[in-house]
Amino acid sequence: MLHLRVTAFRGTADGQYAFTMSLSEQQAAALSAETVVVAAGRPPRERDQPVNHPVVLSSTYFGTGALGDGDRGYGRYSNPTWDPFEEALGQLEGSKLPGLLYSSGLAAVSSALSLIPPGGVLVMPAHSYSGSLVMASELAQKEFVELRTVDIADTDAVKAALAPNGPNARAASMLWLESPTNPMLGIADVQALTAAAHAVGAIVVTDNTFSTPLVQQPLALGSDVVLHSVTKYLAGHSDVVLGALVTSNADIRSALLHNRTIHGGIAGPFEAWLALRGLRTLALRIERSQASAMVLAERLGAHPAIESIRFPGLPADPGHERAKAQMKGFGSIICVQVAPAAGLSGADTADKLVRALQLWLPATSLGGVESLIERRRRHTAEPVSVPENLVRLSVGIENVEDLWADLKRALDSLGG
Ligand SMILES: *Cc1c(COP(=O)(O)O)cnc(C)c1O
Repeated sequence: MLHLRVTAFRGTADGQYAFTMSLSEQQAAALSAETVVVAAGRPPRERDQPVNHPVVLSSTYFGTGALGDGDRGYGRYSNPTWDPFEEALGQLEGSKLPGLLYSSGLAAVSSALSLIPPGGVLVMPAHSYSGSLVMASELAQKEFVELRTVDIADTDAVKAALAPNGPNARAASMLWLESPTNPMLGIADVQALTAAAHAVGAIVVTDNTFSTPLVQQPLALGSDVVLHSVTKYLAGHSDVVLGALVTSNADIRSALLHNRTIHGGIAGPFEAWLALRGLRTLALRIERSQASAMVLAERLGAHPAIESIRFPGLPADPGHERAKAQMKGFGSIICVQVAPAAGLSGADTADKLVRALQLWLPATSLGGVESLIERRRRHTAEPVSVPENLVRLSVGIENVEDLWADLKRALDSLGG
């Protein structure tokens, strides 16, 4: 079913991942993820080796063999600065194969969607990341794929969408999972849905951007491919745009690698280096931001200017039990709907809240060290089912009392 052309750039006759891992498979399995983020992707432990890999700025490599025949060949095929990040991410996601780095999260989305055969059925959460939804809708408009959007929290509805139906009575070729969803924070039953997708022969891709491998392990829950917008938590400092895919399946990895090489969505070496530097502190950043998000969610939920809140860590949240079962923590994204203030619409009240803040940065994106806030519907690409008064908060690593003081002052000023 997959269109395969094995391109063994680092290769051996039978694989594409012959470079030496700095942590062996057994070592990586024995160490906790908090250690792997620090220890993986290091140069060899030899005299005078640097402790960090350098940035390699070269578009081509010395060589006389056929391109794609085990040599690095050319800068679109391979770059030594990608390797340590790809190695570390593969190990963190529990794969024995290195991940694949891309120029952006959406380049990784595009590459993952290329696994769908022509006319195949894609089942996707109605509240996936808006860019993924736009890309899938455009492919569907051109009839390259048949798109079925679903409420990913409704397991029966997803199972029905996976089964043969529609004009051509086709079953799904791919199930796209995002859990929690962006921005509605819906929680999918990843294991049940993955099993249902495999039963109809579909590939499962999970966008793990919100959780990171430290909080959720989609491969262990049965997914075939894990996707990251590395831009967010993995790099963590709002200074690069990058994406990544990880799989344990060598055939799928070869197809993705071929797609990356031919479509050209490759990472710049300096961005790749920054991403690994950011990854080193991932465990500390996640620990702090998750703890702060829990505190802030409890306080926000009790504030009279907040109409409703979604945060899977709150016991009353509809996704709480599922999140508890499949995640290690609840992430650090909170969504609130702001109660309309006297004489203002919900949207205007939400905008007023965002503008009244002095420490929280009003900006799109998430997962950086700094706390960000935005009203999602200010983007025209956001699905209309996302409420106008919904504000998404990405909790950073600042002092939690400073973050709360800023929020409380702004909420109190709304005069609901
Ligand atoms: C940001 C984001 C993406 C897209 O990644 P880019 O790096 O912006 O291209 C995909 N999925 C999710 C969940 C995101 O938050």
